[in-house]
Parts: sequence; structure tokens; C-alpha cells
Amino acid sequence: MKIGTTCVQGGYRPQNGEPREVPIIQSTTFKYDTGEAMGKLFDLEANGYFYSRLQNPTCDTVAAKICAMEGGTAAMLTSSGMAASFLAVFNLCSAGDHFISSAAIYGGTYNLFAVTLKRMGIDVTFVSPDATEEELDAAFRPNTKLVFGETVANPALRVLNFDRFASAAHAHGVPLIVDNTFPTPVNCRPFEWGADIVTHATTKYMDGHGSAVGGAIVDSGKFDWTKYPEKFPGLTTPDESYHGVTYTELFGLAGAYITKAVAQLMRDLGVTPAPMSAYLLNIGLESLHVRMKKHCENGLAAARFLKTHPKVAWVKYPSLPGDEDYGLAQKYLPDGSCGVVSFGVKGGRAAAGAFMEKLKIMAIETHVADARSCCLHPATTTHRQLSDEELLAAGVKPDLVRLSFGLEDADDLIADLAQALE
Ligand SMILES: *Cc1c(COP(=O)(O)O)cnc(C)c1O
Repeated sequence: MKIGTTCVQGGYRPQNGEPREVPIIQSTTFKYDTGEAMGKLFDLEANGYFYSRLQNPTCDTVAAKICAMEGGTAAMLTSSGMAASFLAVFNLCSAGDHFISSAAIYGGTYNLFAVTLKRMGIDVTFVSPDATEEELDAAFRPNTKLVFGETVANPALRVLNFDRFASAAHAHGVPLIVDNTFPTPVNCRPFEWGADIVTHATTKYMDGHGSAVGGAIVDSGKFDWTKYPEKFPGLTTPDESYHGVTYTELFGLAGAYITKAVAQLMRDLGVTPAPMSAYLLNIGLESLHVRMKKHCENGLAAARFLKTHPKVAWVKYPSLPGDEDYGLAQKYLPDGSCGVVSFGVKGGRAAAGAFMEKLKIMAIETHVADARSCCLHPATTTHRQLSDEELLAAGVKPDLVRLSFGLEDADDLIADLAQALE
């Protein structure tokens, strides 16, 4: 099936007389006739539900749809995008391990890697999104367990050089994990470009209406953990907390990674999605392929308008001809990238703040990627405590305004930008 059909119908095939829409199974627990039957579930010998902290039918149905959209072999939902990034890395790294990440990633993820994982004894090396083959090569250590990047980085809007990052990871016997939040599988399927595991903040375009915080992890099933058993003992040697189950033996390459993440990490950390949130997410997914087109059309129309405006200093949008990432975007995201555009207002910090206050349709929000257009000026909001020099050191220009184009009519959005700039 093509992606649009999967968006609408993937993951759920009701049988005769069953609900047409994905049902909300709100129950925390599930009933069994014998203790032995339930024991088999605990030992991972049989498939089934016993407690919604680990697995829930509504959440699994929606995970199966996202799995099909990405072309993966197994998937899980999490309570947030941050939880997805954390579990994806922590499923492979323990204290004493190291991983490599592109520096062009979401600020929350950057902090998780640089501060919180460091406190847990896991070391990260950040590399430039423009790192050469040699620079990437030099970042690897004997204890490196994975490489991480974002397809289109929030908010830098840099496009991941899949060829370079995937081949470096694979040459060193580790997987490439990619946060595919901004393009969604409608615009890019990272597994087709060498990624091994994909994460999502479903909070953004997938939900698309600002209704529910959530995340997802999808495994391609392509990375062969058993080729590097010394690097990934958690997958290739017995798990004593599950009666000696070896995940790669019992679940194969298709299921080992996600089963371990559910059985160990969901069990112990409980970053569980709510069935109601999964239900809302599914409603968003049913129109994702239709919405992404419009988000991208609006983003491109606005980027073109801003590019020629005399009060605009610069524009960053990967699908705009002339952008530093235009070539990569054409290669990996030929149908469009996302609806987020950033630009600089001539006049710096003060002019950018004044511009935003004049907008009538685009609201000031700490959010991106839903139906309603919004904007954020980091220098006067999220980063207001920093001086211009400190902002630049953090990779944020003082005049940067991030615009997220929703589903309104492009003419009205451009008229709003024009009057505010005026
Ligand atoms: C928002 C976002 C996250 C974090 O997702 P939450 O659901 O807010 O936890 C991670 N990655 C990217 C690219 C994001 O935009």
C-alpha cells in the first residue's frame, strides 16, 4: 500500500462486527483464567496483555500503524518524544558507554544527551552536521554504541546527510538512530536511506492538532546485533530479569530491540502512553498525508515571500532553492520537508520582538507543527536570559524568528507576515 492508505487504514483490520474505529481500551489490567496462563506472559513465552504500563491494545494498534508507515518490523509508543529518544539510546547504552550525535538536534534532546545521560555515566560526542567522513571517523571510540541525528533538525532546519552518517555508523558496527519528527514518514522514510531505528515526537505533525504529547520508536529489523555481540550484550546474552531470555534468539532481528525496550525499560521506567492519547494520535495520523502537503506548500510560499522582502536579513528553509541544504533536501525529501521556516528580521533582537507582536494570525507559542500557525523568537522568550554573544554560542541568532506554518490559507498567512514586517 502507498503511504496515504497506510495513514488511514494501517495497523487496524476490524473483523466481522468489530468497531470500525480503533477502540479505546482504557483498562489497566487484563483477566486470565489461570495463574499459569498469566505466568507465560510474564516469561515472554506467550503473547498477550497483562498490565498497561508495559503494553496496551490501543497503543499497540497505533504503534503498528506508525511501524507500517516507516516500513519497520516492530514499534512502540511512549509518553512523549523525549521518552522515545531516551529509551532508544538507553536500550543500547549503559554507564561507561559512548555515542555520537549530530549537534543539530532538538534543544531538549541536546540537554538529555549532554547533561542527564552524562549523569548516568553515558558519554556523548557532538559532531557538526557538516562533519566530513574523516571527522566522523575520528569521533568513534571502542565503547561507541550508536550514532544519532535528526532528519530535519528542530530548530536549525539542517538536513541529515544520511549517506555520510549511516556509512560511518555501519563501518564501525553500530546503528544509526534518526529522529524523524519534522518530515514524518510521509516526506522521508529514513530506513530507505540507511537508518536502523527511527524515533518520533508524535506531539508534532503526527498528532497535528496540539492534542496529546507522545512519542514512538520504530525498528527497521535490519541491524544485525549478533554480528557484534560484545557491543550489544543486552540483546545477545541472557536477560536475568526475564528468566534468561536472549532477545535476539527468541525474537530475531525483527523483534529483539523493541521487545527489550518494552520488557525492560517500559517495565522499569514507566514512560507509558495513555490509550486516550494513542486514540487522538490515530485520528491525526489518518489525515497526515493530506496535511503534510499543505504545511509544506504554506512553508515554501512563505519562505519565497520572505526571501525577497527588504526587511528580511536571511531565510532558512531546506526546500527553498539556494538554501545550504537544498541539495540534501532534494535528495532525501523531494516531496517537501516540513512547515517550519526560520528567518532573521533586519534590526536584530528588538525588531524581531516587535515583528512578532504585530502578527495577527500567527500566535506566539512554544510549539511547532500543528494546524494553527505560530511563531517563536528565542531571544525574547525561551533564551531571553542570554546576551547576544551567549545566544550565538548556543547556535541561536539574536534576530532568529521561527515560524511554524499550519493549515490556514497561504494568502492570509503571507498578508499577516507582510503587515507585521511593515
Ligand atoms: C518536540 C520534539 C521532541 C520532544 O518531544 P516531546 O513530545 O515534546 O517530548 C523531540 N524531537 C523533536 C525533533 C521535537 O521537535
